[in-house]
Order: sequence, then structure tokens, then C-alpha cells
Amino acid sequence: MTPEGRWFDDWYAIETIAPGLYAIGEPKYHQINWNYLIEGRDAALLFDTGPGVRDIAPVVASLTDRPLIAMPSHLHYDHTGNLHRFSDLAMADLPVLRSCVRDSQFHAPDDLYLGHYEDMTWKPVTINHWWSIGHEIDLGGIKLEILHTPGHSPDSVSLLDRRRNILLAADFLYLGDLYAQVPGSSLPDYLIAAEALQSDPGVTILGAHGQPDGVAPRLGKADLEDLLKALREIRNGTRKPAKTGPDCYEISGRMQLLVSPEAYGNWR
Ligand SMILES: [Zn+2]
Repeated sequence: MTPEGRWFDDWYAIETIAPGLYAIGEPKYHQINWNYLIEGRDAALLFDTGPGVRDIAPVVASLTDRPLIAMPSHLHYDHTGNLHRFSDLAMADLPVLRSCVRDSQFHAPDDLYLGHYEDMTWKPVTINHWWSIGHEIDLGGIKLEILHTPGHSPDSVSLLDRRRNILLAADFLYLGDLYAQVPGSSLPDYLIAAEALQSDPGVTILGAHGQPDGVAPRLGKADLEDLLKALREIRNGTRKPAKTGPDCYEISGRMQLLVSPEAYGNWR
């Protein structure tokens, strides 16, 4: 854990990344999820809520007293497990997400939620805000732009704080095994999204899964470039998988990419 990190209890770790930007980690959960709380002058946003093994609401309440909106980066169960504990919820306004609303309630389909992986059941919620791609969430003094970053899953979004040059990339980019082997994964989408992200040199990229060291996963432009290079070479057939079943490509010493046969799309 870094000097900026501390334990909230025996489950949640908190790291202050920048003023008003907190990483809330679950180092004891086997997927080591990291959720992000961004606090502005007028409001706060919780980006991802973890698998819901423990209630995250007390952690958030200890960090901010601003009106809070919770928003998932995508619907996978390890990011949406605590959504139902919050009353004000936002979703990215993507057709694939809009189609999940029935009788004013949001029901995640299992091919986007994947709850059966760990025996988890979606709890229906009401969505109060549908934010379009490109929308700037204004928290008062802090603005976050919503970017569509599919590849891992079709509904994945990232948040960009342009002023501070911080990208919350969720499952699009973190250290370790990146998953393009789940339903809806797409390497062509991954490449298009990575090309669109080509960003400022000093960007800090924060991912949604960490390492056992208990430190929030920080990456940089070099990691994004490594991903881009790997994706282009996979497309061109010049990078071969180091292992198969599923195909596993080395991206760098820090990351690997796991790919299902379906995820190659029109590249194969
Ligand atoms: Zn995911």
C-alpha cells in the first residue's frame, strides 16, 4: 500500500489519488476490484460499485457528504453488485443498455451481467439519469467526459477528467490479464476504442482491477501504446498467442490479453 493508502475496515482499502478523487479497493476479493469516487463542489460520483460482497455505501459516506450518483462502467457483476444500495443512478445512454429497461426497472441480461460466474443475482434498479456518450458530468469544479470504450464488453465506458489528465478506464485497461474472452468481447472494437483514446503524454490511467499489493492500479500512455501495438499486430497476424485455449497474447511485461474465438470478429 502507498503512503496515500489506508484500510477502511478489514475489506475495503481507500487511496487518495488527487484532491477529491478516491480509489476504493477490495484487495481481498479474488478479482481485486477498484472503484472510484470523484467529489466536486456540488456533487459526487461513484464509478463502479464492486461485486457487492460487502456494502460499499458506508465507505462512500465516510468520504463525501455531497449528493451522490452511482454509475457503472459496464454491467459485469463485479462492478454492479452494490448499485441497488444507492438511490440516484446513472447509465451511459447506449442502445444495448436502454434495451434493459422493462416496466421502468433496469434488468441486466446475463450475457452482460455474467452473474452465473459467481452465483450472483441482478437486483432491479431504477435509472434516474441517461447520459449520452460525450456528455460532461459536472460535479462542480470537476468535469468528467463519458467515453465509449467497448472491446472488453459492448457497454463499457470510461471517464476522462481532461483538466487533470486522468482517465478512469475500468476494465478496458489495467495491469494483469485483460479479458476479451467474455460474451460480447470484440478485438475490432477494442482497437477502435484504443485508437480514439490516444491521449496526452502525462495521462494517468486508473483501471478497475489491481494486483495483490493493495495499491490502486495506475497506468500511463506507454501502456495504452503497448495495447495498441498488440491489437494491430494481432489484426495483422504478426503477433501470435503465447498460449491457446483461450488465446493469450503478451502485451507487455505488465499485461496479457485473453481472447475468445468470437472476439476476433471480422479479423479472422
Ligand atoms: Zn468486466
